[in-house]
Amino acid sequence: MSPRLTALGAALAAALLATACALPPAPGAQAPPGAAADGAAPQQVAPGVYVLPGRHAVWDAAHGDVANTGFILGSRCAAVIDSGGSPAQGRALLAALRRVSPLPVCYLVNTHAHPDHVMGNGAFATANAGKAPQVVGHVKLAAALAARAPYYLRALEREGAAEIPQRIAPPTLAVADRLELDLGERPLLLRAWPTAHTDADLTVLDERSGTLWLGDLAFDGHLPVLDGRLLGWLQVLDELGREPARRAVPGHGRVMEDWPAGLAPTIEYLAGLRRETEAALGQGLSLAETVEATRLPGQWQLAEDFHRRNLTAAYAELEWAR
Ligand SMILES: [Zn+2]
Repeated sequence: MSPRLTALGAALAAALLATACALPPAPGAQAPPGAAADGAAPQQVAPGVYVLPGRHAVWDAAHGDVANTGFILGSRCAAVIDSGGSPAQGRALLAALRRVSPLPVCYLVNTHAHPDHVMGNGAFATANAGKAPQVVGHVKLAAALAARAPYYLRALEREGAAEIPQRIAPPTLAVADRLELDLGERPLLLRAWPTAHTDADLTVLDERSGTLWLGDLAFDGHLPVLDGRLLGWLQVLDELGREPARRAVPGHGRVMEDWPAGLAPTIEYLAGLRRETEAALGQGLSLAETVEATRLPGQWQLAEDFHRRNLTAAYAELEWAR
């Protein structure tokens, strides 16, 4: 079957993808319940496990505190999970850690390459007893960062950011499948996933508390954002739900105490996106017609910012999968 993605459609898709991270701030950006607007107060969700909640907004120079970040304390050292969307947010996270522990930060885990999760990496440069921690990521994280970091940094320049990192500290420890890290009587099980939300998604399971850090493999409140493969993401979610966790920390939104039921809204949205795209392709609609005809899913925040972009990505993927 000949693809329906016209040259115009391809250009539109590229433009939407390229501008996704430079969209204007969402009007009325809202914090999920319990979120600290100033990013100050970490929440202890289990003994030794702390989350610094982000607020629902589109990442840009003025919104570095978009993603959930946090840290886990062992007897020997600490691991930080994602560093936030700006150098200032990375420092706020480190300060939050220092308020509860003097432990060195031996690992900084990046769950994927998006800027709201990695721009604070530089804040941890001396947090491992004066040295840099190991930066841990999916085996494809280094390539993803190399390809995207120049764009992210230019976006900050364009927006007149108060502070622009010289570079984003790249991974020094790559996870191709599974890896266990030990913080001292506290093993963390890291798992690298096939392409889903992005091509470099990594989860972290703290076995002791049963807390699973999802990165952006699941969202709560904030519309899921597709930057990888829709069909791959649905498959990954199916398998992810079998992880032996008690609770989960999504990249955006509230901590899920009802594991794996907390995955359901993300699965429902992505399954709906698939149905909508397949129906449009079945009716012979062009990409432009498909985007024009869509109705925003009102139950999600930031749908205005991301739903049409998701539809564009899904259309480009699924027309080749037919
Ligand atoms: Zn994110």
